[in-house]
Amino acid sequence: MTVKTRFAPSPTGFLHVGGARTALYSWLYARHHQGEFVLRIEDTDLERSTQEAIDAIIEGMNWLGLNWDEGPYYQTQRFDRYNALIDQLQNEDKAYKCYCSRERLDALREQQMAAGEKPRYDGHCRHSGEQHAADAPCVIRFKNPTAGSVVFVDHVRGRIETGNDQLDDLIIRRTDGAPTYNFCVVVDDWDMEITHVVRGEDHINNTPRQINIYHALGAPVPEFAHVSMILGDDGAKLSKRHGAVSVMQYRDDGYLPQALLNYLVRLGWSHGDQEIFSREEMISLFSLDAIGKSASAFNTDKLLWLNQHYIKTSPPTEVAEYLSWHMQDQGIDITQGPALADVVTLYAERCHTLKEMAEQSRYLFEDFSVFEEAAAKKHLRPVAAEALGLVRSKLAELNDWQASGIHEQINAAAAELDLGMGKVGMPLRVAVTGTGQSPGIDGVIALLSKEQTLARIDMALAFISERANA
Ligand code: GLU
Repeated sequence: MTVKTRFAPSPTGFLHVGGARTALYSWLYARHHQGEFVLRIEDTDLERSTQEAIDAIIEGMNWLGLNWDEGPYYQTQRFDRYNALIDQLQNEDKAYKCYCSRERLDALREQQMAAGEKPRYDGHCRHSGEQHAADAPCVIRFKNPTAGSVVFVDHVRGRIETGNDQLDDLIIRRTDGAPTYNFCVVVDDWDMEITHVVRGEDHINNTPRQINIYHALGAPVPEFAHVSMILGDDGAKLSKRHGAVSVMQYRDDGYLPQALLNYLVRLGWSHGDQEIFSREEMISLFSLDAIGKSASAFNTDKLLWLNQHYIKTSPPTEVAEYLSWHMQDQGIDITQGPALADVVTLYAERCHTLKEMAEQSRYLFEDFSVFEEAAAKKHLRPVAAEALGLVRSKLAELNDWQASGIHEQINAAAAELDLGMGKVGMPLRVAVTGTGQSPGIDGVIALLSKEQTLARIDMALAFISERANA
């Protein structure tokens, strides 16, 4: 049997980290078994579903590299199929028309609540035999079995048994003719030959109801894995309050997709105490049975740590592609200036995110006209003029523009003036970067051209003399 899994988001918002983790687990399970992965858009809620959300989900899946073999399918394109099966269930006396008014249902509910019972439909129209006009508004309800129980063995939560006396007759078609979620899911998973349903634990109460529908349709029941919730660092359900929850927000904030995937795979799944998983390792090691039962708390520091790990260890040319997006996002023109891979190599140790990297390396691509005030005040003082002047002339003589040669020239200037490296290096840093912080100054200068470097030192010297005259 070929393993076939699916991710079935409702397009009512962006792809959030909880959904992405569910998608990842489902995808990993399929890939691990050389199976197939389906993307299905559950857009039956016409009021809340939007094209924007569909696009956002697809964008998020693509950014994470969670590729699908089939789909995207859209439930709204399958209404005929659902309705045909609902008609069939009615013909087989497995579903029935219910004419109960809102008022009756509300009164029933109140009565049950007052008696301390779980509110559930009492099966009035299943038994009443009342006659109604052919066009009287009604819903269609599924005839849930009245005796026995439903048992399934969840890959995460183990054996779950639910008495049929706990379940009522579910509405499978609304008054407006639209089939409902629990019915469509079953038909889809059957038609799409899904073998393993991996989804959020918020759906676990739907599963026994769905299993009864599978039986009524004569369809094979898939296996299930219900994944627990993700909590914020404060123990509350993860929400916008905790910062980014949309996957694309993580891109915008400067994370690499591999870092987020690695973070998400560990959030609820483990393989010994291993923390770092390449995509290939995740695929080869993943199993549903190693998913933990308890809710997992989101930890941004750990995600940052992983992000820097991947910034440092991935091939710089690969990281550069993602950095390029941030450069563009921040309006930095990279058509002139150093290769982005060299920027990645220079900055990997200093940055936890690519957004930071883009911000901090802007001066490599753009000239500036003012120095950062505090840094200039401290380091561009008249005493620095001599050192800057000497470094300038030594660099002007250098032909092989490489970090090692640049390093030697700076050292030589410091030695000649009998100054510590800082007394030369700091003014030079402020001169060429405009700020008091940067990676090793020789590496920085190597990524600028000689002309740029000399021009910036000249600008610093002019600044110092202006300051002396003021
Ligand atoms: N459409 C449902 C949701 O977004 C998922 C249903 C399922 O996976 O069975 O929560």
